[in-house]
Amino acid sequence: MVKVSNLGYPRLGENREWKKLIESYWNGDINQDDLLVQIKALRVAFLTKQAELGVDLIPVGDFSLYDHILDLSFQFNIIPERFAKENFDLDLYFALARGNKDNVASAMKKWFNTNYHYLLPEWSEQKPTLTNNRLLELYLEARDLVGDKAKPVITGPITYVALSSGVEDYTAAILSLLPLYKQIFQELVAAGATYIQVDEPIFVTDEGHNFLNAAKNVYAYFAKEVPEAKLIFQTYFEALVDAETLSSLPVAAFGLDFVHGLEENVAALEAGYFKDKVIFAGLINGRNVWGTDLAQAQTLLGKIQDQVKEVIIQPSCSLLHVPVTTKNETGLDPVLKDGLAFADEKLQELRLLADQVGQAEHSPAFAQKLLAYEALQAADFRHVALEDLETVAKERQLPFKERYALQQEKLNLPILPTTTIGSFPQSAEVRRTRLAWKRQQISDQDYEDFIKSEIARWIKIQEDLDIDVLVHGEFERVDMVEFFGQKLAGFATTAGGWVQSYGSRAVKPPIIYGDVQHIQPLTVKETVYAQSLTKRPVKGMLTGPITITNWSFERTDISRQELFNQIALAIKDEIKLLEDAGIPIIQVDEAALREGLPLRKTKQKAYLDDSVAAFRLATSSVKDSTQIHTHMCYSNFAEIIDSIRDLDADVISIETSRSHGDIIEAFETATYPLGIGLGVYDIHSPRVPTLEEVVANIERPLQQLSVQQFWVNPDCGLKTRREPETIAALKVLVAATKQVRQKFNN
Ligand code: GLN
Ligand code: ZN
Repeated sequence: MVKVSNLGYPRLGENREWKKLIESYWNGDINQDDLLVQIKALRVAFLTKQAELGVDLIPVGDFSLYDHILDLSFQFNIIPERFAKENFDLDLYFALARGNKDNVASAMKKWFNTNYHYLLPEWSEQKPTLTNNRLLELYLEARDLVGDKAKPVITGPITYVALSSGVEDYTAAILSLLPLYKQIFQELVAAGATYIQVDEPIFVTDEGHNFLNAAKNVYAYFAKEVPEAKLIFQTYFEALVDAETLSSLPVAAFGLDFVHGLEENVAALEAGYFKDKVIFAGLINGRNVWGTDLAQAQTLLGKIQDQVKEVIIQPSCSLLHVPVTTKNETGLDPVLKDGLAFADEKLQELRLLADQVGQAEHSPAFAQKLLAYEALQAADFRHVALEDLETVAKERQLPFKERYALQQEKLNLPILPTTTIGSFPQSAEVRRTRLAWKRQQISDQDYEDFIKSEIARWIKIQEDLDIDVLVHGEFERVDMVEFFGQKLAGFATTAGGWVQSYGSRAVKPPIIYGDVQHIQPLTVKETVYAQSLTKRPVKGMLTGPITITNWSFERTDISRQELFNQIALAIKDEIKLLEDAGIPIIQVDEAALREGLPLRKTKQKAYLDDSVAAFRLATSSVKDSTQIHTHMCYSNFAEIIDSIRDLDADVISIETSRSHGDIIEAFETATYPLGIGLGVYDIHSPRVPTLEEVVANIERPLQQLSVQQFWVNPDCGLKTRREPETIAALKVLVAATKQVRQKFNN
């Protein structure tokens, strides 16, 4: 019989119980004992649920109080030096994640190409030691409940080190961890563990090539030192970078992703590399919310079985990246609801697939899933008639220099124009009023009036500050993607489709289930109202097609390129409405363009080309005198600078403070001809910058960039800041700009 395995289960809980528990501990509403008791109950419930769903190998240790990489750092005593004097306890654990009154938190980074953030291990002089036997305790707890179905999960030493900061000698760092892993494996084996899943996803990235030798040595060491440990060398998100080499590692099994790395991994099987191996096959997508085409999965399973010794089936990656269950999504169209699969439904699918092996007839449940899948594909909301791409402009009429001159003349701006990125503080009052409106305690009209009053208040604040290009403040939006998802056709909002983004923070991405269309104005009312209050230009604020896609659960039955283009057309329609209403500047944010970059170099070009094309489709139909801005918030730009230039946005604003001049370097080596605002202060901290700092941040790039093309703005939106510090910081920004301007005007 084919077994079903799982790699990781969502931590949040069906009703975000996990988040609530942890936050109530932080707020002092429950004490540590209560926290641990209730957290244990959750963990037990997750294990039991997976057993009931028919999972034969249930992950243990994937559960965390914050983040699985932080768990390892804590266990290995890889603690930033600044925390060295603090007591080693749960509060230190949370302090590493969130900072405390004395020390700033560890940095967060995106987990590969997902929207999950892990805490960056910070190495320094300290020698790793084993501070606890967390995995053993969790294993014992699970074994009591589900017996030998319990499968310990741990991130492997190579991936852990590769993802760390402050490592001077990678080989030495990896070696220093090996005895600790050995001890963990020994304890687990002695307690009865069979398979142990060792996650080494670094081996699907280009960087994995640098660690092939390390892999040989590390896994040879484990084979020799703990021969009883049945290690699964687990990868996901792409295929193995070098299957030929890696397939010879002396491990008990390999876990491979047959969704994202399908072609390459299948080719590796066909080359015979795994013919006498046990394969944990990631057959269904652990990253999206769709029901699987089970007929296709069945064929694939057969194909894999032909090439290897034994197959165990599982999701393509941890289910951390999907919500818990569709069962409460009763507000959705039934065809859509039945076509979805969140974590629990994905595990059900796997059970059905496994049970179907060797059966002549489809089981009724299997047949029902096939029907649900087909019904979704055939649903009339999947495909509607869309505007013909051929007839839409793909480039601006005039070249940048000429149209920019037109724009600046029309806008009548000084040199070094000042502006902000779009959002202003979402005060407690804004949040409270929105909640009251959602609960229908106040009317639509009252809510709208309140939003208007906030817009008016902030237009006045911006005028008093003497900012040149104003914004309306985005008070009507909780989230820059959800807001658009709620108003465009083709998107659905779920009731409980939450996924963990970092720590206790969860996001609820909209689901793109059908062709996307602009069916109503999205931002016109607020923008036009703001413009009516001032003579200064107001900048309209939209989210771009790539960011909307990357921060949604996207459909997979059409190509990404097609999806980008559909959203681009919808954004183009909104831009037209804004332009017709007299809005002179429109910003199309692409905050998530960089993070969506594929893991492999070979796939990056197509992504970037498609992104550029979609952005231009959205923004090229405007008059030459209409100015298009864009904004991005990731700091690692050097590798995508050519694409950024190709967007042909009149002005781009980007975050710089966390990159310490790296960005400016990128712009030095590749002369950037368009309008650009490099954030002049860090908005992630409540600290108000000094005049000298801001002056320096304006002057430094002016050594490379012309004063005609440079804009002055903060790093990012100000939504999460408080009002007093925001106003104080913007005062400094304007004063600094005026000081620098004087030098040029003299
Ligand atoms: N316009 C958005 C804001 O100001 C941009 C946010 C972002 O870049 N993440 O909030
Ligand atoms: Zn930003």
